[in-house]
Amino acid sequence: LYLYESKANVFVLKKSFGTSPDRLSISGDYEFLSYLKSREGPVFRDEFVKNATHDMRQPALIYFQNTHASLCYPILSEGEWCGLINLDVFDDKEESKLSILLGLYGDALARWLTYQSTAEQNRKLSEVAHVKDQLISNVTHELQTPLNGALGGCDVLLAHPNLDTDQKQSVLMIQKSTRELQRTIDQILSLVQIESKQTQLSREKVDLSTLVYEVSALYTDVCQPKGVVLHVPSASESISVYANADQMRAVFMNLIGNAVKYTEAGFVRVGFEKVADWIYVSIADSGIGIDEDKQHLIFEEFYQVDGSHTRVYGGTGLGLAIVKKIITLHGGKIWVESQKGAGAQFKLTLPVYPV
Ligand code: ADP
Repeated sequence: LYLYESKANVFVLKKSFGTSPDRLSISGDYEFLSYLKSREGPVFRDEFVKNATHDMRQPALIYFQNTHASLCYPILSEGEWCGLINLDVFDDKEESKLSILLGLYGDALARWLTYQSTAEQNRKLSEVAHVKDQLISNVTHELQTPLNGALGGCDVLLAHPNLDTDQKQSVLMIQKSTRELQRTIDQILSLVQIESKQTQLSREKVDLSTLVYEVSALYTDVCQPKGVVLHVPSASESISVYANADQMRAVFMNLIGNAVKYTEAGFVRVGFEKVADWIYVSIADSGIGIDEDKQHLIFEEFYQVDGSHTRVYGGTGLGLAIVKKIITLHGGKIWVESQKGAGAQFKLTLPVYPV
C-alpha cells in the first residue's frame, strides 16, 4: 500500500506483506501513474503482457516489476490521488474477485483519508481563528489605555479658563472622535467575546420590562429636544427571558439607541408578547426607515446604509451584527420590517424563562 503525499508529489510505501517491493517511494511524475489515474479501476499486468502494441506497455511492465505486483488498484477521491494498492495474485481465478474486494477497501480508505485531512484542516482553521481572536482582543485592550489618556487630556484642556472658542471647538472635536474610536473598539471586542463564549454562555432569569425601562431612561435626554416620545411597557409588567443579562443589555442599548438615533420626530415604541415558549419583542420607530433592498445587509459587520463620509448619523455599523450574534446564540431570531421614509420595526424572539 502506497499513500500519496501531495506536497512532495510522491507515493510512499506504508505497508507491505510477503515480498517487499523494490521501491519505498514512487515519483508522482512517473508516466504510468497518469494512465492508472485515468482508468479509475483495477489494472492487471496481464493486459500489457498479452498486448505487445499497447502504448503503455513499457512503463507498465517496469511498474509491475518494481512493485512485484500483478494487479494495481489506484485509490482516488474526487479525481485526486490518495494512494495505490499493488497485489501479487498467484491464482488467476482469484484475481477478479480480489479486485472487487480491493475496490471496496480502496473506497473506504479514500473516505478515511479525506476525513483525516478535513479534520486536520478544521483543526488548523480553528487554531488560526483562535489566534485571530486573541490578536484582536490584545490589540483592542492595548488601544484602550492611550484612548483613556487622550480623553483625560481633553477634560483637562476643556477645564482651562483661557481657551478661546476655536481652541475649545478643536478639543471638543478630538474628544468626539476619540469617543467614537473607543466605541468602535468596545464593539469589536464584544463581537470577539460573544463568538468565543458560544460554548459557555451563562444564563439566568432576566426581567425584560425592568431592563428596557432602565435602558430607555438613558435616552430621554436625547429624545426630549427632538420631541420623540419613547413608549416602553410598564416596569411592573413582568416578562422574563432565560438569557445572559449583560448581553441582553447590549441588545436593547443597540436597538433602542438606533431607533432614537434614526428618528427625528414622532415615537419609539417597545412592545412584548408571549407566544408559547417565546417572547416576541418589537422595537418600532417613526424614523427614516430602511430601503427594502438594504434590509438583508444591515446585520452584516460594518455595514451602514449611508456609509458615506458625509453621513449625518454617527456609528460603527457593528451594533446590529452584535445584536444578531447574541440573539442567535440564545436560539432566537431577529428581522426587520421597514420602508424607506416610513419608520422601522425590529422584531426578535427570545426564550421565555420557564415558570
Ligand atoms: P450603526 O452604528 O451605524 O448604527 P448598526 O449595525 O447598529 O450600525 O446598524 C447598521 C445600519 O442599519 C445603520 O448604519 C443604519 O443605516 C441602519 N439602521 C439600523 N437601525 C435603524 C433604524 N432604527 N432606522 C433606520 N435605519 C437603521
